[in-house]
Amino acid sequence: MRRPRIIVLGAGVSGLTTAVTMSMAGCDVVIYAAEGPAQTTSALAAAIWHPFYQAPDLVYLERARHTYTTMRRLSADAASGVRMRSLTEYFRRDAGVPWWAECANGLERLAPANVPSRFASAYRMDVPVADAGTYLRYLMTLFLDLGGQYVRRRVGDPASLLDDADRVVNCCGYGSRPFGDSELSLSRAVVLRATCDDAVRGCFIDDSDPASPTYVVERDDDIVLGGTADLDLTSTVIDERQVEDIIRRCTGLCEGVAALRVVEARLGFRPMRHVPRVACDAGHPRLLHNYGHGGGGFTLSWGCANDVLRLTGIASGK
Ligand SMILES: Cc1cc2nc3c(=O)[nH]c(=O)nc-3n(C[C@H](O)[C@H](O)[C@H](O)COP(=O)(O)OP(=O)(O)OC[C@H]3O[C@@H](n4cnc5c(N)ncnc54)[C@H](O)[C@@H]3O)c2cc1C
Repeated sequence: MRRPRIIVLGAGVSGLTTAVTMSMAGCDVVIYAAEGPAQTTSALAAAIWHPFYQAPDLVYLERARHTYTTMRRLSADAASGVRMRSLTEYFRRDAGVPWWAECANGLERLAPANVPSRFASAYRMDVPVADAGTYLRYLMTLFLDLGGQYVRRRVGDPASLLDDADRVVNCCGYGSRPFGDSELSLSRAVVLRATCDDAVRGCFIDDSDPASPTYVVERDDDIVLGGTADLDLTSTVIDERQVEDIIRRCTGLCEGVAALRVVEARLGFRPMRHVPRVACDAGHPRLLHNYGHGGGGFTLSWGCANDVLRLTGIASGK
């Protein structure tokens, strides 16, 4: 029987997880991407599993749960760049156990004596964290080992490829905007990279202000300090005051940050939508979309890729 032929557009975390998922389902997959994994927004991410500023949502929860399970499994392979790490999250309002925390292993509420007085509560749990560059390379290698093909190519109109494939899946992130999605916008993110240091062990988050998400993420090769979320700001100049503010906020979460040596400030743009577009195209049912994941591209990745597979009907033989 002929294997279904799939074209996936994009080689960020969405494109790579989709391509691996479709390959594992027995499809013949080719990735077309304007830029390789190292040049994507995905490569800039702190890449911690976390529902950054997300209201309770059942679809989100299932996708995040699927991703957690898959990344946890991948963490057993040292080459994946994924590790399970301890995350301490602080809350300014005590609303009980976070709605998404049921996905995570090792959940515990911190005793009040261990919670700084400006916070109302804190929870600790284990979550997957990826060294983004290593993880994207690992996914690409996995995809090629499964028989996939990767071609560097910018595409002007995804529907124009439908004659060459059974399905086309658009995973172009913010690159989808020229395809006609006016709902897609940008959120500018500044993060700092510091060298690893015993003063910081684990990850720390205060996500109570959507305009200033604050996080400290320990990885194998660096520690990421974040962040900012400036909607529709497209300037590529990093303001020194924002850098100082990130360090100040992160030190408030974890005192050890004061001892870190910051080596780089990085700028990226999250692809924002009211909800991610994971759906068949209304005008072209064989064209599917998987983009617009905002600050949760890693957190949602395997769950969304699985939804794309389901939407194609390929796994069920439709
Ligand atoms: C600083 C920062 C920190 C973040 N931290 C986290 C985090 O800790 N956890 C988390 O879950 N998320 C995080 N995010 C969000 C996450 O990075 C994004 O949601 C995710 O990277 C989006 O991935 P993507 O594959 O959809 O898009 P991208 O990574 O942007 O990849 C798009 C791909 O499409 C290709 N493309 C674009 N246009 C075309 C075209 N016309 N033809 C062919 N190819 C095209 C590009 O070349 C690229 O290969 C962070 C984001 C930033 C900026």
